[in-house]
Amino acid sequence: MGIIRLRKSDRRRARSTQWSDPHLVKMTTPEAMEAYVRTKLRKRGVDIEQKVETVFNLSRMTTAYEDVLKLSSNFEKYSPVYRAVVLAHEAVHYAQRDQYGQHRFNAKYLFSARWRVSVEIPAYREGVRAMVILGVRRKVIEKHIESVPKSLKKYFIGALDFKHVKELTTRTLRKELPGS
Ligand SMILES: [Zn+2]
Repeated sequence: MGIIRLRKSDRRRARSTQWSDPHLVKMTTPEAMEAYVRTKLRKRGVDIEQKVETVFNLSRMTTAYEDVLKLSSNFEKYSPVYRAVVLAHEAVHYAQRDQYGQHRFNAKYLFSARWRVSVEIPAYREGVRAMVILGVRRKVIEKHIESVPKSLKKYFIGALDFKHVKELTTRTLRKELPGS
């Protein structure tokens, strides 16, 4: 366990900013950003649904399927900033789906931890970028960045070397901090 490292091509994908939305910078309030991303996704044909609360905490996770974005059952309880951050993150996954094709995206995402991490990092990066745009305090953003490797570990990294993933993730996300 924990011995698999990302290849050079995975690291390059993880550092790519090609799925980042240039219009996001114009959204100066979390409400405007949330509305903008929702509209963008709807125009792309994505249905946005809210999960129903279940006994398991699986409903407490936002998941992007082919053309249905299932928001966490407690999404409405998130802060406006966090709602915008989650949507900005998911919009990156749809841009990636458009690039790779649904079928390829699903297969790669399901079967390759390397690939999964390499597409999750740009999505988390867009979330950090959204926080910066919305004027979230640096200390808060830094704390969020620190928490991302743990989220990756919980759901996505499989047998990947955690230290390696953590280092790449932290270094990549910090690029969005002003003055970095
Ligand atoms: Zn994601």
